[in-house]
Amino acid sequence: LFAGETDFLKGVVAMDGLPPADRLEVCFAGRSNVGKSTLINALTGRKGLARASNTPGRTQEINFFTLADSHYLVDLPGYGYAEAPLPVVEKWQRLLKAYLSGRQTLRRAFVLIDARHGVKPVDEEIMKLLDQSAVTFQAVLTKADKVKDKDRGKVLDQVRGALSKHPAAYPEIVLTSSEKGDGIPTLRSIIATLE
Ligand code: GDP
Repeated sequence: LFAGETDFLKGVVAMDGLPPADRLEVCFAGRSNVGKSTLINALTGRKGLARASNTPGRTQEINFFTLADSHYLVDLPGYGYAEAPLPVVEKWQRLLKAYLSGRQTLRRAFVLIDARHGVKPVDEEIMKLLDQSAVTFQAVLTKADKVKDKDRGKVLDQVRGALSKHPAAYPEIVLTSSEKGDGIPTLRSIIATLE
């Protein structure tokens, strides 16, 4: 799957802009600076691919990437942007809710969590939304290279504790470092085996 072509397809600002739900889809969520663009680039092997979604104005869009001809990879920006004007935030939240609850082909959401910080209140918000939308989500810890081996257990326990309160959470946590490449093959095979 990841040996094929990956391309940016479009940024969607309203439900009628969604591409047809004609293939499997996974989405990535995480507060700004968690390492989401870097992870998407590492997964697809294309540097700079997901940079577009970090540019101002792009943060309230749902960004679609094509993965070979069989999957969509979806970048959900938009949280950790509390400084945006309220109407903008509300419009984004409505779109996000509508997308998550109505997308038949969405197989899994990956919620990115900084391995140094564990689950934060903003992460809880997206997890709650995923519960309500009945979208199975999996926690992906990012920047694992910044955490010492001896401290990993503590973070994993905190994340496990947080996940246990969410019915839509998938129990397996993926530890990644886009910098070192750790966990990237695991994440690829998780995506490739979804049905
Ligand atoms: P985004 O806002 O979630 O898209 O975050 P970015 O992908 O832009 O990453 C934010 C910062 O974290 C950048 O300075 C990246 O270089 C850094 N970063 C991302 N992934 C890793 C990683 O695996 N290890 C380390 N050490 N830094 C990372």
